Amino acid sequence: MTVAPKISFVSLGCPKALVDSERILTHLRAEGYELARKHDGADVVIVNTCGFLDSAKAESLQAIGDAMAENGRVIVTGCMGAQPEEIRDKYPNLLAVTGPQAYESVVAAVHEAVPPAHDPFLDLVPPQGVKLTPRHYAYLKISEGCNNRCSFCIIPSLRGDLVSRPAGDVLREAEKLVKAGVKELLVISQDTSAYGVDLRYAPSPWRDREVRARFADLAAALGEFGVWVRLHYVYPYPHVDEVIPLMAEGKVLPYLDMPLQHASPSVLRRMRRPANQEKMLERIRAWRGVCPDLAIRSTFIVGFPGETEAEFEELLAWLTEAKLERVGAFPYEPVRGAAANDVAAQVPEEVKAERYRRFMETQAAISLRLQKAKVGKRLPVLIDAAGPTVATGRTKYDAPEIDGSVHVAFRRPVRVGDIVTVKIERADAYDLHGVAV
Ligand code: SF4
Repeated sequence: MTVAPKISFVSLGCPKALVDSERILTHLRAEGYELARKHDGADVVIVNTCGFLDSAKAESLQAIGDAMAENGRVIVTGCMGAQPEEIRDKYPNLLAVTGPQAYESVVAAVHEAVPPAHDPFLDLVPPQGVKLTPRHYAYLKISEGCNNRCSFCIIPSLRGDLVSRPAGDVLREAEKLVKAGVKELLVISQDTSAYGVDLRYAPSPWRDREVRARFADLAAALGEFGVWVRLHYVYPYPHVDEVIPLMAEGKVLPYLDMPLQHASPSVLRRMRRPANQEKMLERIRAWRGVCPDLAIRSTFIVGFPGETEAEFEELLAWLTEAKLERVGAFPYEPVRGAAANDVAAQVPEEVKAERYRRFMETQAAISLRLQKAKVGKRLPVLIDAAGPTVATGRTKYDAPEIDGSVHVAFRRPVRVGDIVTVKIERADAYDLHGVAV
């Protein structure tokens, strides 16, 4: 039997980059390549980079440096690949540098570096593709690129305008994943609520009917698989109101990942954020009226250029009023090439750090109160990891990797991917603790 060529793979960045990595690996596995555990001894190393923030770039360059030192035969792809000069300046001996979404060029570069072994037994790949996430949950990418031009973001210049997948395609991929044992589908894109705008919401065949490429229609169709469906990167366009009843009916998880970034109208204008966020508090109240256990996760930027103390206090007051379940914050970091760098003066680093601290303290108190309200409840928990007596899982209100966990004591054995009912006994600001019942 021919020895299969081995590839070592590093995937950096966001869940969207992870989906790209899965696609590249699925393709290469189908051609008979194997995955190596270490750079050392692999025939080639692929580094899928993230170039969003300067700190992410530094991490990417570090990963490339490690791969060069440990192996020396390295192909770079991903967001940072859109600016090859910067990488080539530092590492002139790379085999190839390709941009984001350039699957074919990565695969061609691998072929050139180490041709595929032709062995029909190796050409087998599981029908659902190669997943880098555990088998019980999977990211489902519904579109690529973005039509917005937020002033702090360079993603549109890296990934281009919105290109949505037809609804039928997305549903077929979801069906394969569910058949392969996936219990939770995480819908991702750059701007999930804009899904289908580029296709003019065109319907496409799915089973014995047609489904329109519309956010609410797709969410409803995904809800029919009977697994957890979680919506990420949803901006508050008016039609988001249509998915809230699906959440109340239990078709889609009562969870919205909605990066709002700020609450002061003047800062939002400088950020050039999509969708009208000015009436957000009223809308959140209305959504909670329809779906009382809705959990909203959001991220915010503190110290955006020109942010005054009054604007920051507006944000804190909004946060106190909105009582969001899960919140992340980032002190503003200038991204090279982003319009935001020139909209107003930079906020001094010490002011950013102080606002960040105040923001996190305000939210920690809110989170703790909301978490404690769960004590005594019986909640379904999807098990992510199981030891001999304690398992770790998540409620419907927590996404993998970004939100909290539930630590579950149990008597009857539980397995990864099981959904068990857990009586919550204790809560801290982030995690819950309970017993399987
Ligand atoms: S919505 Fe804004 S922040 Fe998100 S990818 Fe598009 S331009 Fe960037």
